[in-house]
Amino acid sequence: MLFHNISLIGAGGLTKTNMNVRTEGVWITSIGPCNNSLAEARRVEKDVFDGTGKLLIPGFFNNHSHVPMTLTRGYGEELALYDWLYKRIFPFEALLTEDDVYWGSLLGIAEMLRGGTVSFTDMYMRIQGIFRAVVESGIKASLSNGLTGDESTVLRETAWYRETEQMQRDAKTSHGLVIANASLHAQYTSAPSLVRALADYARENELRMHVHLSETETEHEECKERHGKTPARYFADLGLFDVPTTAAHAIFIEGEDYDIIRDKGVTLCHMPSSNLKIGSGLADIKKWRDHSIRVTVGTDGAGSNNNLDMIEEVTLASYLAKGIHRDPILFTTGELLAFATRNGALAQGRDDTGLLEPGFRADLTVIDMNALHFQPVYDYGTSLFTNANASDVALTMVDGRVLYRDGAFTTIDIEKVIWNVYRVRDEKLAKLRV
Ligand SMILES: [Zn+2]
Repeated sequence: MLFHNISLIGAGGLTKTNMNVRTEGVWITSIGPCNNSLAEARRVEKDVFDGTGKLLIPGFFNNHSHVPMTLTRGYGEELALYDWLYKRIFPFEALLTEDDVYWGSLLGIAEMLRGGTVSFTDMYMRIQGIFRAVVESGIKASLSNGLTGDESTVLRETAWYRETEQMQRDAKTSHGLVIANASLHAQYTSAPSLVRALADYARENELRMHVHLSETETEHEECKERHGKTPARYFADLGLFDVPTTAAHAIFIEGEDYDIIRDKGVTLCHMPSSNLKIGSGLADIKKWRDHSIRVTVGTDGAGSNNNLDMIEEVTLASYLAKGIHRDPILFTTGELLAFATRNGALAQGRDDTGLLEPGFRADLTVIDMNALHFQPVYDYGTSLFTNANASDVALTMVDGRVLYRDGAFTTIDIEKVIWNVYRVRDEKLAKLRV
């Protein structure tokens, strides 16, 4: 495909206008100034995309999600965290089959593609259902089941073990779309012996790690009382961070935690919408960055966000940090974009994507800036995390394949997905009311 006469944010975060970008197969093959007319380009090329008034960027990497939680979007609003989880979410999730998870995942994937996301890092259960949705849709994902258990739990006898072993085999058949990860749900839902067993397993199997870290003050303080150390120190001591790790939230990390996280090369993932909605608090991503920690952005599950809009998430992250630090030039557009693209790609271990450069994978997103709320456009780059939202995405491409364009999905039958999501909802509600 030739993206003709388009604006883009290239390597180094620089915005360029009037560019031609070519993709062939799964790769970006050339980027250069546009010096022909659209009519001329269409005369010699088969697949030409008119980039007038549009911005091309690397697609988003949503670095922490629970994609099937689209099924629980809006279920149990206006409850405190404990009631929301124990009275609504956990009983609902206990009824979900692998097939239910598949339909919820397809809805979440459709929403992500519609918002310019090309890859996500997920933690859930019955993850073979997610795998099926990922491969059918053509999006990329790093998938894991979040391990929980007490002292009596034997790792190799758990559903977690079965699913994780299966996912490693499945991933090999996915043409690079899926990467199998290891995952611990959280410090407060697992015993130390299990954390150590998981760390050993991840190292032996060369798996990346995904974990919730210091999301709430209660979790953080109780760990200090129980173990005499912060969750970050506790995990580091048990070997959890000995493989490349992404830790979600990290709101209450303190003191030497910052050095542990940097020295262990742990990537942190920021999800301000979820943190605000649940009333957890706010992470200090300026401090993360200033400690040379890799910053990424995610949406969390649709139960606590409630959308999967990465543009909104990055804009909110930017505005919150600028407001808290009273510094309107705290982050450039290029830096914010790196949080949500290249940094996420590197956190997933995908070195060949997340940048608009020849030789990188064609995992791309086009933002249409012709809508009223962009007018008049002075600068396409700085209009991204100020004026845009998910509904401005015109095209999403993964490995050179167009998966979403102008309101239509090329791999997902969205009406069938929505019909099934309502079927699952009604079946579960009927059971929960018995
Ligand atoms: Zn989460």
